[in-house]
Amino acid sequence: MATAAFTIQARQPGSLARAGLLHTAHGDVRTPAFVPLATKATVKGLLPEEVAALGFEMVLGNTFHLHLRPGEELIERLGGLHGFMGWPGPIITDSGGFQVFSMGHGTVADEIKGRSPHGSAGRVGSILSIDEAGVRFRSYVDGRERFLSPERSMAIQAALGADIALVFDECTPFHVERGYTENSTLRTHRWLERCLDWHAEHGPAGQLVYGIVQGGVFEDMRRDSARVVAASACEGIAIGGSLGDHKEQMYEVVGWAMEELGGEHEERPRHLLGIGDIDDLIRGVELGVDTFDCAIPTRLGRHGCALVPDPARRWRLDLLKGRSREDPAPLQDGCPCPACSGGLSRAYLSYLVRAKELTGMRLLTLHNLTFMAGLMRELREAILAGTLAEVAGAWRGGEKHPHA
Ligand SMILES: [Zn+2]
Repeated sequence: MATAAFTIQARQPGSLARAGLLHTAHGDVRTPAFVPLATKATVKGLLPEEVAALGFEMVLGNTFHLHLRPGEELIERLGGLHGFMGWPGPIITDSGGFQVFSMGHGTVADEIKGRSPHGSAGRVGSILSIDEAGVRFRSYVDGRERFLSPERSMAIQAALGADIALVFDECTPFHVERGYTENSTLRTHRWLERCLDWHAEHGPAGQLVYGIVQGGVFEDMRRDSARVVAASACEGIAIGGSLGDHKEQMYEVVGWAMEELGGEHEERPRHLLGIGDIDDLIRGVELGVDTFDCAIPTRLGRHGCALVPDPARRWRLDLLKGRSREDPAPLQDGCPCPACSGGLSRAYLSYLVRAKELTGMRLLTLHNLTFMAGLMRELREAILAGTLAEVAGAWRGGEKHPHA
């Protein structure tokens, strides 16, 4: 039931932050935690044991992509997602709602303006229709027509064997009117009930379901959505959709939802979808978020960017820029990742990424995930020790980093 999925171990006075244990069928996750993406059944470039050795306890797979290729039937036959990809720990799967609606942003925008969506309907990887039943779209893999609905998404996540399934929601784009967001949020609430009904009857034992709070950037709708999701039978709660177009707005929007999720609902785990900048993670933890997922650390790594304790540059070092080309220093002194502990220079890594060598992508991915794991470990330990304010301040000032 609702309280069994999560144990709060410590709270930080003066903030909403908490440290806890998220209990899943494949083990516990110490929170707050960052969840690396294994969108297509792999954390790109890494082996499962490498991801685990960095300190990560859960990864996130994606319903939309895995349904299109290789298909949940094959994955189920080969041991579910855990067996298929060789990851024995907890797995959360995204419902596919975000991918389906992102794919159709142009179409959705046309729809809002009252234009027919037919302009893009013939293109591979496009939305054909959105209605109460679900979303019909064309696969980007083979051009075939596909259909996702609350029930289909839950059935796919059941076949994948996810420890945590996310409900199928309509992910509302940012630049839409209040009326559109309202209709979309109400539909998401109806879809939430359909997901939970399906799961109650057919869902695998031990699989947790997270509802998703929508409501765009409108305070009344965000708060209302949080209350509706909190009142449902879901075991955990995710915050999704448009959170605004700048950081302060995002913190405000997340804060509204978090306020509604306190009190009697606080023992349910909370996940913030798709957010992963260093300062956003720190603030998210202060706002009471337990888990985060984001493409940023791994995607940056594949594109020649390393995470470093440099808040003025958004904690990023672009190795494609000039100053790294002849720099003999490691990415970061004291970092235990293979690149830094192996004595590899910024110059060497800069060369590897410019030459598009796979080793460069791997080394930067390992370094960036090491940085993320270190940040989350420190925030968690600070909450347990009651020192979050000092630790968060030092991180924001760039005085502190995972190995300082
Ligand atoms: Zn490193």
